[in-house]
Amino acid sequence: NNIAIAIDGPAAAGKSTVAKIIAEKLSYIYIDTGAMYRALTLKALNEGINMEDKDAIVGLLMNTEINLKQSFDGQMVLLDGLDVTKEIRYQDVTTRVSYVAKHAPVRTEMVKRQQEMAKNRGVVMDGRDIGTHVLPNAEVKIFLVATVVERAKRRYEENVKKGIASNIEILKNEIEERDRIDSNREASPLIKASDAIEVDTTSLSIIQVAERILDEVAK
Ligand code: C5P
Repeated sequence: NNIAIAIDGPAAAGKSTVAKIIAEKLSYIYIDTGAMYRALTLKALNEGINMEDKDAIVGLLMNTEINLKQSFDGQMVLLDGLDVTKEIRYQDVTTRVSYVAKHAPVRTEMVKRQQEMAKNRGVVMDGRDIGTHVLPNAEVKIFLVATVVERAKRRYEENVKKGIASNIEILKNEIEERDRIDSNREASPLIKASDAIEVDTTSLSIIQVAERILDEVAK
């Protein structure tokens, strides 16, 4: 009974936090697809490639190895063999990643790699297009939402814990801008799969959200 669990939703809705908990509980692997788009964006930044240059970005991806390794404290992201787990969360990556993820051929290649990673195993995968494109046959599909104010607040509190200075208003704008680009792109936009269960996490704790999803898994 190795099933696939797809968790989608807008930016900072708590997808990865909850996905990690579920994966741990079920002894499944966790795949953070956003980390793959972030790693490609980091490489494009380092190589001075324009994010709007579709051909250059696709060419770059074809020559790029992205590995997600399960480590004791979560997931490690390797870009051409180098650990970039921290760097892919930097602000300059976050503000650009949606421009990289817009390109249809980039998505085709990423989806192919993600499907390969999920093959024949129990998996919890989070992203924007998992239920609609990557794992359309996933047994459980969840679409997490929360108000933008709540999402900005959570990001802010996460940053405080990590000792990163930030500003709620700026976080809110960045989240809204990313959602706008992700929802309006032509190729597999951010949208709830018709058979996904929407969970509004605005006034739920992480544990409550995880339990809600585990209830669906047990059905
Ligand atoms: O999940 P995370 O916020 O790290 O994702 C970063 C960005 O990667 C998203 O804003 C989106 O542009 C892109 N993405 C995507 N499809 C996915 C996962 C992420 O387009 N499955």
